[in-house]
Amino acid sequence: MSRMPVVFFGHGSPMIALETNATTRTWAAIAEAIGTPKAILCVSAHWFTRGTGVTAMAQPRTIHDFGAFPQALFDVQYPAPGSPELAGRVRDLLAPDPVHLDQSQWGLDHGTWSVLVKAFPKANVPVVQLSIDGTKPPAWHYAMGERLRPLRDEGILIIGTGNIVHNLPRMDWSDRMCAPFPWAKRFNDHIRSAIAEDRPEEVVNYAAQGQDAALSVPTPDHYWPLLYVLGARQSGEPVRFGPDHIEHGSLSMLSVVIGDTATPIRAAA
Ligand code: ZN
Repeated sequence: MSRMPVVFFGHGSPMIALETNATTRTWAAIAEAIGTPKAILCVSAHWFTRGTGVTAMAQPRTIHDFGAFPQALFDVQYPAPGSPELAGRVRDLLAPDPVHLDQSQWGLDHGTWSVLVKAFPKANVPVVQLSIDGTKPPAWHYAMGERLRPLRDEGILIIGTGNIVHNLPRMDWSDRMCAPFPWAKRFNDHIRSAIAEDRPEEVVNYAAQGQDAALSVPTPDHYWPLLYVLGARQSGEPVRFGPDHIEHGSLSMLSVVIGDTATPIRAAA
């Protein structure tokens, strides 16, 4: 079995689950190039916890973890099975750090399904979510990604879903494609270069970017899934970007594909 790539998806607004656009077509093209993994392990910005948990139920529910959105978004279901087997494997890989096997609390949140309804619309690949322990520093999350790396040789697709720049209060809701704020563009470009040139320490130490980082990552939830993805990277592996744009001035949609896909990623218009 060849090594699975590892992917970070910039997920944006949950409304994208109801849209078909260049971003969703690119997500689909990425998934098509990967093929069918044995299972997906997903680190979502929207499962931020004290301690680490992993969904371990056979049939995770679709969670609609948001407020004022149209009923059509609440009607979305992503009925992929879970994988208690993968949950147990994740717990073993992350030992001696304790991992709670969640049977009932969580499921698949919108950080996961808003991407997967586009990338893997058949919902026939088992999906397991891993939570992010909000009490730990960035380097710890990167190290967790390193420990998950063996899964890639077992047919497991590791994905992170969040946003490299995610500042909701600063967003210009009136114009999705307005010019990005200069600090958002600088930070996004800096992180993209660090990934392209394989300098993960700069991605981990993002706070060194000062005010640009403080504005781009006002809370860590949407940024930290990227650290798991980079931790799972083997040094020197190829990287591809796309989509790569900033919406509403301060929401980066940058996605990152690390490693070789089974077939080339076709250009999606
Ligand atoms: Zn989100």
